[in-house]
Amino acid sequence: MNTTTAEPLNAWYETSARELPWREPGTTGWGVLVSETMLQQTPVRRVEPVWWEWMRRWPRPSDLAAASQAEVLRAWGKLGYPRRALRLHQAAEAIAAEHDDVVPSDVDTLLGLPGIGTYTARAVAAFAYGRRAPVVDTNVRRVVARAVHGAGDAGPPSPNRDLADVEALLPDDDAKAAKLSAAIMELGQTVCTARAPGCDLCPIAHDCAWLAAGCPEYAGPPKKVQRFAGTDRQVRGKLLDVLRGASGPVERADLDRAWSEAGQRDRCLDSLLVDGLVEQTEDGRFALPGEH
Ligand code: SF4
Repeated sequence: MNTTTAEPLNAWYETSARELPWREPGTTGWGVLVSETMLQQTPVRRVEPVWWEWMRRWPRPSDLAAASQAEVLRAWGKLGYPRRALRLHQAAEAIAAEHDDVVPSDVDTLLGLPGIGTYTARAVAAFAYGRRAPVVDTNVRRVVARAVHGAGDAGPPSPNRDLADVEALLPDDDAKAAKLSAAIMELGQTVCTARAPGCDLCPIAHDCAWLAAGCPEYAGPPKKVQRFAGTDRQVRGKLLDVLRGASGPVERADLDRAWSEAGQRDRCLDSLLVDGLVEQTEDGRFALPGEH
């Protein structure tokens, strides 16, 4: 894979990409920012209904900025990693106050917003505004590892090298580069998947280093396997579920029922308090932020 693969990959994207609501023409930078934030670590099918609901309730950054943190956390529902919701709220406040309620289009300004990191800034610049920006996520890293480097999978992330790898593939033209960023990601999500790459259907199979090398096994450092059951992440989710399901502060005993192992439960509750996702009332009860 090299710069000449942009054309077949972009042509494939035009005919084969999934129709997703945030890809519809006319979607604002705000709509793309919300979708990209939600899509980090949460699958499309779970994001879609929540995204629609957010766009209906909060069509502009100033609408979200005017909502309370508790409302935002409730509306985040079960998307997971709820700190993302609070970060989006902070970004909305800054966009409303400092950028005339319009999501900025250049990467550096986006990076200056609270809670917007390397991935999101570049994804918004490329997908919302058609700018040339290397966008790197797990799927993109896997495609590049295979098609460019001939490895069965990507090793541990190396942000500068990963960005440089993708940057080197992008055409100079903004629109073509932005489309290629979306196309590489889509290929990784739908064809060049981790477990069963569909090389027969792949538009760049003729140019794939891994396929040409006979699909050698991944030989890099072992990858971290993410489990969920029994993790602090699961316990934090259960504690937040109790608060989302209540109309106001709850007693400690209500939270204790959510998870039986006291040490882990206490540690998770502490971390939620430190992260600002939960607050304690003066009389010792617990609530979503601002809801007491
Ligand atoms: S040919 Fe196979 S391994 Fe190579 S990029 Fe396409 S799907 Fe991935």
